[in-house]
Amino acid sequence: MSTTASTLLASVDASSFDAVLGTYRPAAPVFVRAEGVHVYDDAGTSYLDFVSGIGVNALGYGDAGVHTAFEQALSTGLIHLSNLYRTAPAAALAQMLVDTSFADRVFFCNSGAEANEAAFKFARRYARIRGGEAKHEIVALRNSFHGRLFGALAATDRAAMQAPFTPLMPGVRFLDPADPSSWDAVLDSARTAAIIVEPVQGEGGVQPLSRETLVALRRAADANDALLIFDEVQCGLGRTGHLFAYEASGVVPDMVTLAKPLAGGLPMGAVLLTERVAETIQPGDHATTFGGGPLVASVAAAVFARLADPAFLNDVRARGEYLHAQLNELAAESQSVVAVRGSGLMWGIALSAPAAPVVAAALERGLLIATAGERVVRLLPPLVISESDIDVAIAVLREVLA
Ligand SMILES: *Cc1c(COP(=O)(O)O)cnc(C)c1O
Repeated sequence: MSTTASTLLASVDASSFDAVLGTYRPAAPVFVRAEGVHVYDDAGTSYLDFVSGIGVNALGYGDAGVHTAFEQALSTGLIHLSNLYRTAPAAALAQMLVDTSFADRVFFCNSGAEANEAAFKFARRYARIRGGEAKHEIVALRNSFHGRLFGALAATDRAAMQAPFTPLMPGVRFLDPADPSSWDAVLDSARTAAIIVEPVQGEGGVQPLSRETLVALRRAADANDALLIFDEVQCGLGRTGHLFAYEASGVVPDMVTLAKPLAGGLPMGAVLLTERVAETIQPGDHATTFGGGPLVASVAAAVFARLADPAFLNDVRARGEYLHAQLNELAAESQSVVAVRGSGLMWGIALSAPAAPVVAAALERGLLIATAGERVVRLLPPLVISESDIDVAIAVLREVLA
């Protein structure tokens, strides 16, 4: 541990942790370092990480390429400047995103919720020109999660998260992806600006939407002259074994939002847009102080180059299939497993009982896993996880589910 890190550790006690606002109920260990796919607490105990900072640490910890990108960016002295000025890293990263996707332009921001809120603004900007003020509604899906800011929260189908904070952003409606016959009552070409969809719902219990549903949503969006936004904040950037989750379905959206793994652990979000949407956006329509700064964009460019490598993605798919097979075996043996859902290296184990005790029991055995809703255990290992580390995790899961 560096001197600074150990000085900081020595300076904290229980009341220091109480100084942090209680919006979370964090697990007891105090983590002080990490390497590869393991994190270590202040007693030196090692934990195998199947959460990766909620899908952020795709390359694990201590990746040499990420460290080199940090060092090179720091050596310029230019951590931040402002979007009032041009810097090369954001342009280079935007070019990489455009070259590898459906998009023609990219907007950079600092988180997933910010990316979704930016996409909502862009959708309204675009729709206003076509249908006036009436055409402003954002349609989200049942069971969705799009973030905790007022606009993103309005599009998040979770009553308990919304209730203490109403009124939220108005003009949001929900549709049930499982019942296309009900969509006509929700969508309206005079009112609907956009439909937002997670191709694999994350917080909602790891629910992949079928190809048929995504195709039908594309058709419904087109029929109502509405934009289709894919929220790939959690499922994008290699997580499903495809660089972008939309690739698996063949459905091409009008906007994609990204965040979690984009900048190797630094906060960064992005909105990918087609020219058709982008051409309606004028200077001054939206802004962010930090978005696309030189340090974060330099690191993101290094991370993205790795994630976009077809050999890397092949490997994710292969290890994803391995993990899926192991989980199916586990499900067949276990009384408490109701279903195994996911793709690539994003999996949910649906249980007949609450998932939180399983997560706590795994932590005690040195495995970090998370919940996704009340009764789903979620696995989001670093995309560099090995088969032997998958075996270790499965052995722990077998024990804690027994
Ligand atoms: C995590 C997440 C968000 C919110 O991202 P933040 O960076 O926490 O604001 C939005 N959408 C999805 C699908 C997510 O998983």
